[in-house]
Amino acid sequence: MPLVWPHDKGTTMTDLLLGQVICYDGDPFCEGLGAARPITRGAVAIADGRILAVGEAGDLRARYPQARLHDHGSRLISAGFIDAHVHYPQTAIIASWGKRLIDWLNTYTFPEEMRFADPAYAAAIAGRYLDLVLQRGTTTVCTYCTIHPESVDAFFGAARARGLRAYAGKTCMDRNAPEALRDTAQSAYDDSKRLLEKWHGVDRLSYVITPRFSPTSTPEQLAALGALWREYPDCLMQTHLSEQTDEIAWVRELFPQSRDYLDTYEAQGLVREGAVYGHAIHLTDRERARLVEAGASLVHCPTSNTFIGSGLFDMSLAQSLRVGLATDTGGGSNFSMLRTMAAAYEVAQLRGQSLHPAELWWLATQGSARALHAEDRIGNIAPGMEADLVVIDLASTPAIEQATRRAEDLWQQLFPTIMMGDDRAVVEVWVGGRPILSDS
Ligand SMILES: [Zn+2]
Repeated sequence: MPLVWPHDKGTTMTDLLLGQVICYDGDPFCEGLGAARPITRGAVAIADGRILAVGEAGDLRARYPQARLHDHGSRLISAGFIDAHVHYPQTAIIASWGKRLIDWLNTYTFPEEMRFADPAYAAAIAGRYLDLVLQRGTTTVCTYCTIHPESVDAFFGAARARGLRAYAGKTCMDRNAPEALRDTAQSAYDDSKRLLEKWHGVDRLSYVITPRFSPTSTPEQLAALGALWREYPDCLMQTHLSEQTDEIAWVRELFPQSRDYLDTYEAQGLVREGAVYGHAIHLTDRERARLVEAGASLVHCPTSNTFIGSGLFDMSLAQSLRVGLATDTGGGSNFSMLRTMAAAYEVAQLRGQSLHPAELWWLATQGSARALHAEDRIGNIAPGMEADLVVIDLASTPAIEQATRRAEDLWQQLFPTIMMGDDRAVVEVWVGGRPILSDS
């Protein structure tokens, strides 16, 4: 992959990308597959970091005769992928063997997260992580950092240098974690507030209030973060919910007064629109109803759920809630949103639900954008949206190429890449209207 440098600043030059284009007029889970709009001989015009127009190639070539052409033939042009739940500090421990959630945290996660007290290590991993995901077509992530403020500075610094729209927060834990990874209710509030004021709204960056999950936060810490959220209501709040049955039993012991897992957050002001819950697999009827009533977001992490043995997410929730898709690096076993779509397909099959390629692709782009309340900016190709794009080779390996030969429409052509594609399928990535390719 060659390195391509960004264009000169100040240019008003228009770029015109030609290829098969996938965009959405609505939500296929609620409005049906007609909400997806593939354009076989399509084009996307971009300038000054935004999408100017999308449509038929002939129309846009006539409209922008001076534009710089990027002819991708039958390759697919899509919004960049959005990974709505990751732990960038777990980059180096991805694909570690043999543990379930609580053992995983104690054996692999906590020792690795201790290393992020060192700003140089945090910066090195943040850069490595973002280059890995950019090579896989992911242009926005929403990440947990560690308890160290330095880990947030490192991530936002690396995301800003690459021009990314990105979401992150300091992970807060004041119990059931090693001493070196514990803050307090007060220091979690103070550090989160300082980082929020430093980073939220700078360039394309957003701060996310981030208690790890109820087992590692006292009610006092959850209350302090609930108070912080009331002071900054336009921020997102992210945490984990009902990932494994052992975890739920532990929460019941730790919070004997709570009705259920969600109630441990609800009691402290951490359930409302803008809340983003990872996993949410083993929900009670009350929790489901309350999540819908609150307008909360869920994030499905299928490679993590199978890798750590957590369970099967119920995709019918996407009909009544904002549902995003995520790798959950490093509990998830892959950095690729293509592999994550494949796992989402497989998990749904095990629940008797069959996800269409248009639904899988939507989850990895506009679905995740909606989960992060960013659907008016990213995750779709439409005029005025930020120009974060990925160009996909739909015949990137001999195995995929031979499987697409009899395809009769874009969806048949796309599905083998969803199931078997990897970073070789990603031929170009645009961030903020500039082509970015990294070969580190
Ligand atoms: Zn997670």
